[in-house]
Amino acid sequence: MKHVLFLGATGTAGSVIVRDLLERTDCIITAFARHASQNYHESDRLKVVDGDALVQTELTAAMQGQDAVYCAISGESLPQVAANIVAAMKACQVRRVIFMGAVGIYNEIPVEIDGDDNVAINPGQIPNRDAAAVIADSGLDYTILRPGYLQEGIPDDFILTFKGEPAKGYTTSLPALSDLAVRLISDEKLYAKESVSITRDMTKRTEGFAMKAVTLNNGIEMPMLGFGTFLTSEETCEQSVLAALQAKVRLIDTAAAYGNETFVGNAIKKSGIPREEIFLVSKVNFDSYEDAGKAVDNSLARLGTDYVDLMLLHWPFGNYYAAWRALEKAYKDGKCRAIGVSNFDPDRLIDLIKFNEIAPAVNQIETNIFVQRKTEHEWMEKYGVAHMAYAPLGQGHRNEMFELQEVTELAEKYGKTPAQILLRYQLQRGVILIPKSTHEERIKENFDVFDFTLTVKEMDDLAELDRVTPQIGDPEKPEKVETAMTWIGK
Ligand code: NDP
Repeated sequence: MKHVLFLGATGTAGSVIVRDLLERTDCIITAFARHASQNYHESDRLKVVDGDALVQTELTAAMQGQDAVYCAISGESLPQVAANIVAAMKACQVRRVIFMGAVGIYNEIPVEIDGDDNVAINPGQIPNRDAAAVIADSGLDYTILRPGYLQEGIPDDFILTFKGEPAKGYTTSLPALSDLAVRLISDEKLYAKESVSITRDMTKRTEGFAMKAVTLNNGIEMPMLGFGTFLTSEETCEQSVLAALQAKVRLIDTAAAYGNETFVGNAIKKSGIPREEIFLVSKVNFDSYEDAGKAVDNSLARLGTDYVDLMLLHWPFGNYYAAWRALEKAYKDGKCRAIGVSNFDPDRLIDLIKFNEIAPAVNQIETNIFVQRKTEHEWMEKYGVAHMAYAPLGQGHRNEMFELQEVTELAEKYGKTPAQILLRYQLQRGVILIPKSTHEERIKENFDVFDFTLTVKEMDDLAELDRVTPQIGDPEKPEKVETAMTWIGK
């Protein structure tokens, strides 16, 4: 029986692969994950170490005495993680490693594809140059097998293919990657030089998966389900944010344009919950883009905090380049743990990424059952930008959604409300949600969506209900742009 050390099991990719390894091989896994208990149930075959691969002692102890340790690190692995793994490998003479994510820059690392014992896989999601350099400098023999995005210079027979076509994009390549991890662990011969093609349908969605947290492209963790505050102010805002925090919601979304940051700040203080346990999101309004640095300071003062966890540019209007560079500075100054955008279509998003130093961690866009943003989702995944939904219950259109037969039938089947079905659907798609309600019961209801699972067929049926066109935020339409200007006070 093989023992797999899985480092970086916190994120979506890591946990999908851990699950597949358990289901499809008989290996024993030690998974290193932050807040591990949220995502895993320990068993005879799965031991979870609560922490990441920064825990050198546990890492070395787990590797000790194994004659073949299979070790995977996934996602946005940090240079220190890579260094710790390399050190532990050397100390324990581990002979086989699957690196995922840390060896991102294929063209910058001398690569041997000669079937040595060590194998590195990179899903191509978030390449980390520093981690890659640590591995390149380690002196270890390693081989990179790089599925995921196509990059020039990769030998043809080492490209993952799907129905004869090169694999494209992270969305479709995760099942493929997981498949490859399973096969590498099951089949010794795969380490030799041979072509690798996938056997599973890459388009199949992962069944039954809803993460409680996601790791953003700068390595910080963000809850998947939170609370919105649009159109609430003063006492109502304060009371509802407090109710949400008391219902264990830890992600709160506000914006300068909502005029309620002060009340959100008050609620956080009143809750008595330590600031660092709350993931606080705010947005700079476009009428402040010429001096977004000052706008960030003003938001912090109103919120009564030294930092926000995520600061977004609210709309792609006005001088958003200047505003983005001011956000980059605020990020470097420690005033924002992550920075992102809102209402950016993929074209604007790619442009912003290409011509700036820091890529947005998040894009918050209108997303619900009628406006699913499937194309946008793929583009965002390709660029490592997390998809955060606003109006997940359709804002004013909720009643129509709640009455859909496809939704009411599922609500009955699972003993849930239509709102819960709609939220669960988006969570299983991997979309971050911030439903808003001013009613305590509904706030609790909206957060109670982690005890049931929609099947792949049900997910597919709900996917059919997409009407594609946004109702609220559509910066492609001049009329919507005009309206947006009036909405937020320009
Ligand atoms: P939502 O889709 O969250 O819908 C909110 C409406 O749904 C409210 O009328 C609420 O009523 C009702 N509701 C909530 N839960 C339930 C339930 N369980 N059963 C029945 N009705 C329910 O719309 P929002 O526009 O508020 O979007 C969510 C958040 O996204 C905002 O609050 C804001 O933080 C953010 N946002 C961001 C935008 C951007 O441009 N970046 C634009 C719009 C929103 P009630 O309060 O009476 O319970």
